[in-house]
Amino acid sequence: MIRMSAVDKFFGSLHVLRSIDLDVPKGQVVVVLGPSGSGKSTLCRAINRLEPINDGSIEIDGVPLPAEGRALAELRADVGMVFQQFNLFAHKTILENVTLGPIKVRGQSRDEAQRDAMTLLERVGITDQAQKYPAQLSGGQQQRAAIARALAMKPKVMLFDEPTSALDPEMVNEVLDVMTGLAEEGMTMVVVTHEMGFARRAAHRVLFMADGEVVEDAEPQKFFGEPKSDRAKDFLGKIL
Ligand code: ATP
Ligand code: MG
Repeated sequence: MIRMSAVDKFFGSLHVLRSIDLDVPKGQVVVVLGPSGSGKSTLCRAINRLEPINDGSIEIDGVPLPAEGRALAELRADVGMVFQQFNLFAHKTILENVTLGPIKVRGQSRDEAQRDAMTLLERVGITDQAQKYPAQLSGGQQQRAAIARALAMKPKVMLFDEPTSALDPEMVNEVLDVMTGLAEEGMTMVVVTHEMGFARRAAHRVLFMADGEVVEDAEPQKFFGEPKSDRAKDFLGKIL
């Protein structure tokens, strides 16, 4: 579903992604771990072309990433992304936030988009917030709204970049529960997170990045039980 081949990315002279090869089959849940600055966010952003790459290739469902225009908008609709900061439109209601993309990019009618949106808001547990504005919601509710908004585009892939890092601790689980549900339903997911419980529970595969490289690529049990590299041992020693 996601295929990266020999992907290089530089910021000036800083080599941020170093010849990354990554194949994520349909339905797989990949958790990306690694120290700050190792390139995790850049990897995610490259997958939906928020960051252009300098070399190599990326395909989604067999289609190379388009550079611009309508094809890029459609690709972005296929690849949902949820960030640490919820990035909802502040001056639109939750329902409007969720229906905007389907109406504008997917060409759905307003009625249909609203029906679908209410189903999604129910699924993430916030139907009662539909007519409110983002600032009136808790962080956990806003993040669940952001997930509903991404799902409204019927994406093939979902990317999550530290979706719970900005949340108060008591709201982390309500977001992780939604993500776990998605994983169980077979969504293809790439998740950057420091939530090791989620990684153990939901991931099929853990990638450990350091200095722009994928240093380890293993099943969670194996990665957490017997990390191979000193970098990973050191990292796990600090966070567990
Ligand atoms: P964190 O855990 O802190 O979120 P990360 O693994 O997500 O880190 P990235 O955000 O991908 O790391 O950054 C990788 C490297 O690229 C870092 O050295 C960072 O400073 C640098 N970098 C990221 N974005 C830019 C940018 N827009 N311009 C210049 N350098 C950048
Ligand atoms: Mg990051």
